[in-house]
Amino acid sequence: MSWITSNQSYGSHYKRQFEEEKKKSQSQKTEQQNNLYEKTYNILNRNDNFNKRNQNIRNNPKPNVQKPEIKSSQYPTNQYNLNPQNQYKTTTNPINEPKINIIFDPTKIITSKVGLQNLGNTCYMNSCLQILIHCPLFIYKFIESAPEFFKNGIRPTPISYRFYELLLNISNEQNTYFSPVDFKDSFTSLHQEFFGNLEHDTQEFCRFLLQDFNRELNKIENPSSYKKEIKMNNKKQMFIDYQNYCNMKENSIITDLFIGYFSYEFTCQCNNKDYNFSQFLDIPIQFPKNSTITRYKLNELIYQNFSKTESIQSNENCRSCRRKNNLRQNMKIGKLPQILILSLQRLNQYFNIKNESYVHFDEMLDMKNYVDNELGNNSLTKYKLFAITNHIGNLNTGHYYSYIKINNEWYYFTDSKVVKNNPDYDSNQVYTLFYIRLNS
Ligand SMILES: [Zn+2]
Repeated sequence: MSWITSNQSYGSHYKRQFEEEKKKSQSQKTEQQNNLYEKTYNILNRNDNFNKRNQNIRNNPKPNVQKPEIKSSQYPTNQYNLNPQNQYKTTTNPINEPKINIIFDPTKIITSKVGLQNLGNTCYMNSCLQILIHCPLFIYKFIESAPEFFKNGIRPTPISYRFYELLLNISNEQNTYFSPVDFKDSFTSLHQEFFGNLEHDTQEFCRFLLQDFNRELNKIENPSSYKKEIKMNNKKQMFIDYQNYCNMKENSIITDLFIGYFSYEFTCQCNNKDYNFSQFLDIPIQFPKNSTITRYKLNELIYQNFSKTESIQSNENCRSCRRKNNLRQNMKIGKLPQILILSLQRLNQYFNIKNESYVHFDEMLDMKNYVDNELGNNSLTKYKLFAITNHIGNLNTGHYYSYIKINNEWYYFTDSKVVKNNPDYDSNQVYTLFYIRLNS
């Protein structure tokens, strides 16, 4: 997808671990296949008894596989969930019947203090899920759109379905924590690199998840039929054309809330300027290279990221001087999103090191210095912090946990445990920051 602009596709050490895990999993495959029927039945059975879900899990953690009383037409196709290779081959909506169209009170979700069980190094997943679960704007919109995507879904929606199920379970949960095992199963069946019990990057998981929601909840029926046609024009018109093109391809709660735009300016040695744009789901914040500084202010880091000029070799002849010169590239923000995610690039997979500098951040953040004023559509630039993810440990082994604001009070979420506690605003563990835009 075009809006994955950053250079951190899953890193080499994760790749290595993944290869090893994959080898191991090959030998376990036959056993897995033997369990397939049981697993399929468990999943279908759980769907069927969804309203009694919590009751069932507590009383009967493993549903009786001898008694299948399921009408197959009511359920997801057999490709659903278990066979990722076929995920996109199916042309029918896997949710044939709106099995989960219960409308429930979103305030129960966004104020919940239910932990998520660690399923084996799944803190990367839990810390991100908790932040989305407690993001009111997202939850209200997600629940609002749910009956529609269960009823008239035009494409498979396994991840949204499982997330909705998770919300429902959390809103009914009597225990202090819940096991997101069904959600994890669905997610890993779509994204095999997350299979097994390896540690993963929480921000990478977050991007994958938001991309899944965006794809599944896209209101545009045939997104690939639009061609990109952005003629050379003045910068402002080019940006309008680019946004129109993006809006014709994708329209979802994710584009409404999370997607922002970068604006790039390329200056040739002859001073001719060219422009380009891309979408982002989060802004990666790099630390200065080869620096001995160990304490930063978040504002300074953001400023450094947007003020640096990079030199790039052009692939095309300049429109003015007709040469392939080195270009100076500057990046600004073309459009700010409602929910802004800043991801500190602490993990350097190439050098296998983690930057453990302290970063000081505030609850309020103003992005006005980083917006492209020539595009003139960023009058609201002030943000308020509502969640952070921290990472403790090193590149190979560590732990993610979150701080989330609920009703103006901070809570500490670490897997199954939830405690009222304030975050450290000067931290060498802060990893991802989630801000919400203010209306004034
Ligand atoms: Zn030129």
